[in-house]
Amino acid sequence: MTETKDYTLIDGRKVSIDIKAEISAKVAERKKLNKKVPHLAIILVGDDGASQTYVDYKVKACKEVGFHYTMMRFADTISEEKLMKHIDHVNNDEDVDGFIVQLPLPAHISVEKITEKIRSDKDVDGFTNHNFGSIISKNPLLLPATPFGIMELLRRYNIETQGKNCVIVGASRLVGAPLSMMLVQQGHATVTICHKYTVDLKSITQQADILVVAVGKPGLITADMVKEGAAVIDVGTTRVEGPQFKNGYSLKGDVEFKDVSPKCSFITPVPGGVGPMTIASLLLNTLKAAENLNP
Ligand code: NAP
Repeated sequence: MTETKDYTLIDGRKVSIDIKAEISAKVAERKKLNKKVPHLAIILVGDDGASQTYVDYKVKACKEVGFHYTMMRFADTISEEKLMKHIDHVNNDEDVDGFIVQLPLPAHISVEKITEKIRSDKDVDGFTNHNFGSIISKNPLLLPATPFGIMELLRRYNIETQGKNCVIVGASRLVGAPLSMMLVQQGHATVTICHKYTVDLKSITQQADILVVAVGKPGLITADMVKEGAAVIDVGTTRVEGPQFKNGYSLKGDVEFKDVSPKCSFITPVPGGVGPMTIASLLLNTLKAAENLNP
């Protein structure tokens, strides 16, 4: 029989509820002072089911904290040029403090071109090159939402990063790459980033005091790859379909939770870990954008 150890489950859902309460209080305070209520606009192209679900969560979150919101839907046949014009319009709309373009976009539209068209002071997903680069400044503008949420989880669970060995598996532009900069810049950690060409992944993950996994391959991280006492943050979210699941699918992380968790000091579940924090970060960024644009 394997010995089980205590670990702390990092409850992203609970932290996101706390953050939403803090934001609601700030919105109420702004209203009392006759200041503008933050306004988030969401652009959705096409009718991808998963995107619709994510957008619904974002709208619900806006309602919960008292933000104004606008949903802008376009058919997946919209041209890149026309979408750019709509983005220009939102960029210039003084009533909108922040906006996002829900990804993925149809193949004929360049994600990079669209992202770069967004005004960086309204880019509440933190996707533009400007906001990516501003991570290394003393005063970052709007931080990329998912890494921001991860940093917030580490902070709120008092997980020390300074001087720690952090290993990030997954080097994407949206998660792994910006998180590595944030962990060095704000967390003063020693960071190793792994990707699909990394040789002997296990020998590297075994060194991690904090292991963050953002790949999208369920079961990639097994117990033998994790050091005793590590804090593990599982960003991976893959829809696995099957008749045994209530809705016909289940969301799976990249970490073998059952076997890995007994070795950990802290671990995030999937779902209910990083996911809710991405939306909480979007709300925090929208509040910040509104405070900057309409102090
Ligand atoms: P992505 O753009 O596809 O990047 C995946 C990264 O993993 C790449 O850097 C890739 O390496 C690396 N990789 C692929 N196979 C690997 C392997 N066998 N070993 C080590 N590294 C490997 O994905 P993403 O957008 O970052 O998303 C990653 C996962 O996080 C997905 O499941 C996504 O759904 C989830 N996610 C969740 C949230 C949330 O809010 N919960 C937010 C964002 C993403 P190369 O660079 O060499 O290609």
